[in-house]
Amino acid sequence: MDEASFGQVLDTVRRFVRERVLPRENEIEESDAIPEDLRAATAELGLFGYALPVEFGGFGACMSQDVRLAFEFGYTTPAFRSSFGTNNGIAGQVIAKFGTDEQKEAFLPMLAAGEKIASFALTESEAGSNPAGLKTSARRDGREWLLSGTKRFITNAPLADLFVVFARTDPDEVAGRGISAFLVDARSPGLVVGPRDHKMGQRGAWTAEVTFDDVRVPAGRLVGDEGRGYRSAMTVLARGRLHIAAVCVGTAQRVLDESVAHAATSKQGGKPIGDYQMVQAMLAESYAELEAGRSLVLSVAAAYDAGRDVAIGPSSAKLFCSEMVSRVADRGVQVHGGLGYMSSTVVERMYRDSRLYRLYEGTSEIQKLIIARELLSAPAPR
Ligand SMILES: Cc1cc2nc3c(=O)[nH]c(=O)nc-3n(C[C@H](O)[C@H](O)[C@H](O)COP(=O)(O)OP(=O)(O)OC[C@H]3O[C@@H](n4cnc5c(N)ncnc54)[C@H](O)[C@@H]3O)c2cc1C
Repeated sequence: MDEASFGQVLDTVRRFVRERVLPRENEIEESDAIPEDLRAATAELGLFGYALPVEFGGFGACMSQDVRLAFEFGYTTPAFRSSFGTNNGIAGQVIAKFGTDEQKEAFLPMLAAGEKIASFALTESEAGSNPAGLKTSARRDGREWLLSGTKRFITNAPLADLFVVFARTDPDEVAGRGISAFLVDARSPGLVVGPRDHKMGQRGAWTAEVTFDDVRVPAGRLVGDEGRGYRSAMTVLARGRLHIAAVCVGTAQRVLDESVAHAATSKQGGKPIGDYQMVQAMLAESYAELEAGRSLVLSVAAAYDAGRDVAIGPSSAKLFCSEMVSRVADRGVQVHGGLGYMSSTVVERMYRDSRLYRLYEGTSEIQKLIIARELLSAPAPR
């Protein structure tokens, strides 16, 4: 998208988040759901396809634009971003980057319009940090594939119309090479979505287990080359990590804004707690860390768009920003004192919500392994 048009989109999204979503946060938290009118307004804005290609109804945002939008999404409840996150991100990008023209035409316009929801189904009980060890199988039966296995923690599964499923097509391969990606209709016989998971936070964003029992998938629903699905999963996850890093920056900004407002007005000993230097130190540390995260995200996004860095940068940004937002949220609770432990406060909610970012789309430990692998693959000359 050209920068002038993007500036308008960014302004609109910023206003939408602050004027339309923020006032509904408690309702979303209490009902554990995104209200239907908000979902419809989000679709109307085009947010279900902001990162999908223009020719299929999206805005075609590049990563430098995606992360600036994500700063805004992160400012409010994560359920808002999650409602359209899988369409634009991990699920939609598999189709946009690796699908055939027929697959793109069949699915992307409906995803971009928010008429259909797509989920990304990779994780299994013994294949989370090590997805290459996944056991879900796909065996050929004439012009169809038969998929069997169980995926867990699948975001938006209870709402999904379409699953991007990763399954082993070559039983003799134990690692990534024998894995393929499939587009599976959620109404397929043999596909069962389990009850919604009960989570620590991120209420209104739903996950569930999905089981496949000899689910028939037409041969034309295999995405990309047979046996190359693992590569497509890793490609979209790297992109997703950079996006999540930006969401963390947005959340840290919200926690800091709440903390500064509280410190400026809440009194102890007859003066605002913001007059006490130890409270000032907490605010200052959070500000410095959050701005470091923002700069890192912007510079990695520019390198990503230029094709210079699609691995070490996204993992570094995800590692730094997800750990950073946890520290900022922890300080946010501390600045609020006992009030920060009460579920009426934004910081209490964001403390729980932000804990997820160190876990999904690769834990912090896995980001470290990726960073070290990249460093050691081309050691600098001494
Ligand atoms: C709310 C939520 C939403 C999710 N959404 C999706 C989704 O939409 N689609 C999807 O496919 N998945 C999804 N996931 C799954 C998520 O990506 C995994 O939970 C995550 O990658 C961690 O895998 P795991 O849970 O199996 O933990 P494990 O891999 O069992 O990790 C447990 C601990 O062991 C550590 N560990 C594991 N292996 C190593 C190693 N080699 N070296 C060092 N430490 C290691 C981990 O860092 C962690 O500390 C979601 C998860 C959650 C909680």
